[in-house]
Amino acid sequence: MLRFAPSPTGDMHIGNLRVALFNYIVSKQRKEELIIRIEDTDKDRNIEGKDQEILDILGVFGIEYSQVIYQSQNMRYHSAMALQLLHELKAFNCFCSTDWLDKKRQEAKESKVAYRYDDACASLPDELVIDNENPFTVRIRKPMEAIVVKDYIKGEIKFEANEIDSFIIMRQDKRPMYNFACAVDDMISDVSLIIRGEDHMSNTPKQILIREALGYTKKIEYAHLPIILNESGKKMSKRDDASSVKWLLEEGYLPSAIANYLILMGNKPPKEIFHLAEAIEWFDLKNISKSPARFDINMLKHINREHIKMLEPKELSRYVGFADEEIGELAKIYLEESNTTRDLKAKIASIFADKEIPDEIKESAQIIIKAIKDAPYFEEYDEFKTYIMKESGLKGKNFFRPLRLVLTGAEHGPDISLVYKYIKNYLREIVK
Ligand code: GLU
Repeated sequence: MLRFAPSPTGDMHIGNLRVALFNYIVSKQRKEELIIRIEDTDKDRNIEGKDQEILDILGVFGIEYSQVIYQSQNMRYHSAMALQLLHELKAFNCFCSTDWLDKKRQEAKESKVAYRYDDACASLPDELVIDNENPFTVRIRKPMEAIVVKDYIKGEIKFEANEIDSFIIMRQDKRPMYNFACAVDDMISDVSLIIRGEDHMSNTPKQILIREALGYTKKIEYAHLPIILNESGKKMSKRDDASSVKWLLEEGYLPSAIANYLILMGNKPPKEIFHLAEAIEWFDLKNISKSPARFDINMLKHINREHIKMLEPKELSRYVGFADEEIGELAKIYLEESNTTRDLKAKIASIFADKEIPDEIKESAQIIIKAIKDAPYFEEYDEFKTYIMKESGLKGKNFFRPLRLVLTGAEHGPDISLVYKYIKNYLREIVK
């Protein structure tokens, strides 16, 4: 079983989508199921509707899964397993107040040492625990030995025992802490491989410790993906528009192109342009670079153009707001000067919009418009051009500049004879 475990706390980040894509690909390769676990136990951070938005995005990208689980549904297991650990003395109740712990943390900071909980409550006598009416958290006992994480991308990483303290697994209000919920859920879902962002690497030894304490012997494999940097070399954050999958889609990047790019970055694929289904044939986690990947919008633009070229004209037509195949063909001609379906939509819209004609050529434009309105149908551009030229009595620049403006709404653009091929059936609408 593989899992993708998004938190419904904001717009989906491209880093998360990359994690989802990799999980999907590997689940297909291993012929194992992929489940989606919505990590919604941190109620204060959840944003209404983000869970559905995430599922919709997965749908848009063709990421199939067998089940959606909400982490909050597993809360009774989290409590039951915390009780088990308490019972086996692998966890203990901690009555230290938040103020006290904050003070200790501050002291550690001032003396420039890493803060570790001092195990003040680790061996309280039973009577003190049982009769205590103060609020308490539950802490798991710190490890006795180093914990080694074997990772497909990072290799072996050793966490010394003293790097991990007896950390909290259940809050005072009896809600599970993140690491505990996550470790238990991966165990009860029988997860075999966890693919996630490297920002979770420091959680991994804690989650391993939790499952070992619970007596779970299955070794879960790991792959922690390096972070994605923006163009100035900083971690790509919410402030970078391109970090939001929703933004990229709205800008007119095709899902297939975004997926292509996210699989390509920091990887060694056999080719540059591909579809998700092909990646399943050759994708290998071991080829993913250990170092951060740098997001390059120009590369994404290039890939997007290539994917737009591969679209069926009818489909592209829909992206630019039409239904006819010819408009899709027409849009492809504009790929020379456009990177996204949104750019293309604007180009096509300007062909059909009311045109703004500069004063000095208004008159000749009117003459050309009248000639086009009165003209018979011409299959070939050359015949059309010769006819309109003759009827209008214009030639050279005085003919071609207004003609282009009248037909396309732009001063420059692709070869007009190419454009004509696809607009010849719409001329009346265009010069209306
Ligand atoms: N909910 C975590 C996140 O969105 C992922 C946790 C995990 O994959 O283990 O970053």
